Amino acid sequence: MSPAATPIAFIDLAAQRRRLGARLDQAMLRVVDHGQYIMGPEVRTLERQLAAFTGARHVVTCANGTDALTLVLMAWGIGPGDAVLVPSFTFVATAEAPALLGATPVFCDVEPDRFTLSPESLERGIAAARALGLTPRVVIPVDLFGQPADYRRLAPIAAAHGLRVLADAAQGLGATLDGRAVGTLADATATSFFPAKPLGCYGDGGAVFTEDDALAETLGSLRLHGKGSHKYDNARIGVNSRLDTLQAAILIEKLSLFGEELAARAAVAGRYTAGLAGVATVPAVVAGATSAWAQYTLRLPDRARVAAALQAEGIPTAIYYPVPLHRQPAYQAFPADPAGLAVSDRLAGEVLSLPMHPYLDPVTQDRIINAVLRVATTS
Ligand SMILES: *Cc1c(COP(=O)(O)O)cnc(C)c1O
Repeated sequence: MSPAATPIAFIDLAAQRRRLGARLDQAMLRVVDHGQYIMGPEVRTLERQLAAFTGARHVVTCANGTDALTLVLMAWGIGPGDAVLVPSFTFVATAEAPALLGATPVFCDVEPDRFTLSPESLERGIAAARALGLTPRVVIPVDLFGQPADYRRLAPIAAAHGLRVLADAAQGLGATLDGRAVGTLADATATSFFPAKPLGCYGDGGAVFTEDDALAETLGSLRLHGKGSHKYDNARIGVNSRLDTLQAAILIEKLSLFGEELAARAAVAGRYTAGLAGVATVPAVVAGATSAWAQYTLRLPDRARVAAALQAEGIPTAIYYPVPLHRQPAYQAFPADPAGLAVSDRLAGEVLSLPMHPYLDPVTQDRIINAVLRVATTS
């Protein structure tokens, strides 16, 4: 590493923390002092603000994004004998939630340019599930790397086969499709506030968005041990999955910057694309969509060489995801699209994510772009 090459952060949470300053300290102290650590007033305030931000009718927070997925599947009564269609190229939680409930995740392929669930593969996955004697009940499209999945084409397929759509928007909160916000594009939408997500807290957190009054009420009960009309009335078997009041207070402060941060992420993505489109396959955002740019992910046939060269210059990269779920030891026995998952397999060997956060300044970003250009053009 040359002396000028100071290390670059992959995600610079410290820059955001400096910007939030004393406001954030005070928000946390208010909770410490009022003492309502569980289901305190900030939780409801955050839910209302997230509903206003997305235009969703209901927001129910919970302990993490994986629980957000699981709680919706529980509320819909998903279990043994049911098939839940999921992409293979995603974070494990997308398939873990249905598997944990005894349902069968059925792996489908993704589209090569935008990385989200392929409608053609979904059709084949539904037929394959039926042929196995399973009842296809839910599809979980993933807003991978921040871009909304192709709900315009996926929703009619789901409707034609009687499936509900649960959006995994752990990476997609803040994105839009045809002017509608993620959170309103599916029967229910799950998101995560894990620190590295576009809207992250300082621990674990998650939320569900829905237009469905009855679903919102059931979720509100399930996250509190299946609570009925009062604390010691147990209407159903639930779980303990609440968002801490302290995390809600932190998220309220971060949400106030989120719109600006999304614009800054889009500017960073635009600079990467302008600089790198000639030497790598850059991520495509479909017409009519905006991305939350949770990740900026290139496709490079010689990824290892590029990653090593960047590493030597103090530029971190990451691989999301090196092994598709249908090849994971815990998941390889589950059914998949009989036509194969060739795109998921290929992407796992080619993707490389570059540093991406709202505080990546143009000078630092030029260093990254120039380093990629140098390695990609020497072989
Ligand atoms: C992060 C993530 C989750 C899980 O969120 P947690 O809050 O970590 O439980 C689920 N799906 C996808 C696609 C994710 O990226």
